[in-house]
Amino acid sequence: MWLDLRKIIESPGASRSFEVTLDPEHLRDPAIQGFKVLPEARGEVVNTAGLLNLRGTLTAEMTCVCDRCGTVFDRKKVLSLDVPLSADVSDEASPEVFEIEGDGIDVSEVAETCFILNMEQKVLCRDDCKGLCPHCGKNLNDGPCDCVPTGDPRLAVLQQLLEAPENPKN
Ligand SMILES: [Zn+2]
Ligand SMILES: [Zn+2]
Repeated sequence: MWLDLRKIIESPGASRSFEVTLDPEHLRDPAIQGFKVLPEARGEVVNTAGLLNLRGTLTAEMTCVCDRCGTVFDRKKVLSLDVPLSADVSDEASPEVFEIEGDGIDVSEVAETCFILNMEQKVLCRDDCKGLCPHCGKNLNDGPCDCVPTGDPRLAVLQQLLEAPENPKN
């Protein structure tokens, strides 16, 4: 959604509100299986003492796949948006600044970029997800499996040798 900023760009204190539904195709992430409700962003662009800031909230309800145990779970993500906008982003020192193109800005693009940058590297069904047993594949969040922790049989033989009396005196 294109937001025309001409009316506020030169008027400190002025603002323009926006409300936009985002395209799930632009919010792809390997951990996201789908969106239950179309993600949306709403807020306003405010001119504060001559500087433009986009502020608002992005809400998404999605179905995710746990990176550790593979469980599919529902997740609600509410993201606060607060990003500076500038007509001149040649300033390499502030990479979070979004560029105003001509007289306005594509608020959908800004919101989508914020969403993607905010996705964690590994999405987990819960912080302390125990994952799957490497032997039987059971989801250990449901309780321990029946696998008996056994050592490598070759190591067991070695262990016996080590435990044998070193210098049998007879
Ligand atoms: Zn998990
Ligand atoms: Zn197991």
